[in-house]
Amino acid sequence: MLQLAALLLLNDDPLIVIQKGELPIVISAPHGGRLSIPDCPLRTNKSLPQFVTVLDTNSDKLAEETAKELEKLTGKKPWLIVAKFSRKYVDANRPLEHGTESDSGKAVHRRYHDALRQAVDASRSEPGALLLDFHSQGNTKDLIFRGTANLRSLKRDSLRDLIEPTGFLGELERAGLKFQPKAENAEEKEHPSFDGGWITRTYGASSERGINALQIEVGADYRSKATVTDTAQKIAQALKNRVLKN
Ligand SMILES: [Zn+2]
Repeated sequence: MLQLAALLLLNDDPLIVIQKGELPIVISAPHGGRLSIPDCPLRTNKSLPQFVTVLDTNSDKLAEETAKELEKLTGKKPWLIVAKFSRKYVDANRPLEHGTESDSGKAVHRRYHDALRQAVDASRSEPGALLLDFHSQGNTKDLIFRGTANLRSLKRDSLRDLIEPTGFLGELERAGLKFQPKAENAEEKEHPSFDGGWITRTYGASSERGINALQIEVGADYRSKATVTDTAQKIAQALKNRVLKN
């Protein structure tokens, strides 16, 4: 009962979309928000590691649409945790001490990660449990960079279902989305700028209490106003076909 009360409170959060899941799929998007945080100063300390404040355009929309499409296909909700706050105030894909410079920012960072931890803990014992962390990149328009900390965030026996031609990424390639590394070269080294951030590493398979975690850095062609729903439908279909076991 206490847990339910806490969850209802979380759901009222204007700065973070939090949906309780019925499937062992955890969808996260930390960088697509635009809202300011009351009483929170802008991040300015460029000496902190990996200091970035740019918006991941439409990554929030793609994550939310994917959750909606997956519910349409399965009749069940995935976990959904999406930042509506701007990365100019809090970067939830960094450790607490690097992601914000104030107490009010830290409180928001903690709420994001309390929700993620709850989702991962609830999913861990289920077959096919997967955290999918949505980002946007401006490097290559018609490409999605896969980030798994060079496979460390995935269990070895899950590669077939997730990133090889028989799996989730293989199905998405056949649906017309391009990936780097390609499914046929699943063991190729990942792009060093897009090889999985703090969320992927913290909740991924090689960490304590982790699950399979996959970061996707999506190019503009796949997340524009005209294409975002189509991409979400393809991702949801591939999750249903290749990742979910029940
Ligand atoms: Zn990002």
